[in-house]
Amino acid sequence: MMHITIKGGTLVTATEERRTDLVIEGGRVAHVGDAEPSGEVVDASGLLVLPGMVDTHVHLMDPGPTEREDFPAGTRAAAVRGVTTIVEHTHAHPVRTVDDLREKSSYLEGRSNVDFGLAAHVWPETIPHIGELVSGGITFFKIFTCDTHGVSGLDPALLTEALTRIGLTGGRALIHNEDQSLTAAAERRLREEQRVDPGLLREWRSREAEVVAVATSAAAVLGSNAVVTFAHVSNQGVLDVIDAFRSLGADIAAEACPQYFALEEDELDELGALRKFTPPARIRNEQDRSAMWRAVTDGRFAFFSTDHAPSTIAQKEEGGFWEAPFGLPGLDTTLPFLIDASLSGRLAMTDVVRLYATEPAAWYRLPKGRLEVGADADLVLVDPNATWDVVDSDIFSKAGWSPYSGRRFRGGIVASYLRGTEIAAAGEPSDSRIGRFISPARTAEPTYW
Ligand SMILES: [Zn+2]
Repeated sequence: MMHITIKGGTLVTATEERRTDLVIEGGRVAHVGDAEPSGEVVDASGLLVLPGMVDTHVHLMDPGPTEREDFPAGTRAAAVRGVTTIVEHTHAHPVRTVDDLREKSSYLEGRSNVDFGLAAHVWPETIPHIGELVSGGITFFKIFTCDTHGVSGLDPALLTEALTRIGLTGGRALIHNEDQSLTAAAERRLREEQRVDPGLLREWRSREAEVVAVATSAAAVLGSNAVVTFAHVSNQGVLDVIDAFRSLGADIAAEACPQYFALEEDELDELGALRKFTPPARIRNEQDRSAMWRAVTDGRFAFFSTDHAPSTIAQKEEGGFWEAPFGLPGLDTTLPFLIDASLSGRLAMTDVVRLYATEPAAWYRLPKGRLEVGADADLVLVDPNATWDVVDSDIFSKAGWSPYSGRRFRGGIVASYLRGTEIAAAGEPSDSRIGRFISPARTAEPTYW
């Protein structure tokens, strides 16, 4: 079996940084500590050695509307930018039964450059299938509180029923929180007024609609004993509600996404559909931005993910603003964004590992996100002295553009390894397609840091 010595790098875990070597044998970490060079030797001096990132909120549309994205393209982006595990779900082609899960996981054999878990959607009529899907190896259930992306929202009664069943069967849920009655009423009014300007998004998908749904969902979590993630928490008001329910005992993880830190509310007016995602960007100034980062370092966010949901510029701009697809590409840029934030003093490099590798893996009980003896040798080499000037032509997602184009990120991703195999180096994927379907551990309790 393949034997590799990663020599002279600085190993970064969720809790510490230290200069050490790392030996890989048969796709697993065999030794961490000083080692004589043997087998293939990778000179990592001056580089950081991180576990491969684990992105648990990704939409690759495959099978589905693959004109927007597919597994080969999306996981090229992941591999090149240091993400070695994703958890995927596609709204337009949802997994609702165990047969759907089997069909999708076998279809994806040979289509992924990184390891992948899959999530299922919950419709009112699929609530009885929740237990079978947990046993079948689904990572979590996606639930909407409002009709979005063609998926029906669950009202509080159905939400409580679904969460109770998820709690009983040991599953996990990811909830998209926007209140159905508020978004529907706002949509009716805006259409009556014949509004077509991008600014309508702020009124349609308002802060109030997010807070009302978060409070309702949090109450349902509290009553159900489920372990739940609240997706893409967009601002501090939402965190305040989550923290209040957490202090009462609700097991809720607040998910952070780069767009709520990097993009500002007013960009919508100028950039239109290229800033159409929901909830929309909420920060208005540097004070709001610093407050979001403070919430990260204070531990109020559990982990980062991208909510990668790309469309090309042509797809975004075809038709009017109402018709434009929601979502942003993100797999190409999330780890570079976090490394840049760390090198700029917003958070420690150990926090990057904790928030984008170790903690999401632990929360969803996936056997990933750690570089310890016996673990899968999924790792990323990072050069803290490099820089990346983001341009659209660097983007591997089918989107072919990035909301961060024109920005300079400090730090550079040198190479990524999946189970000991190099899957990308110097900004190019090897397109190995060796990614495997992975399931959560059924018995182990999550580890909290
Ligand atoms: Zn999403």
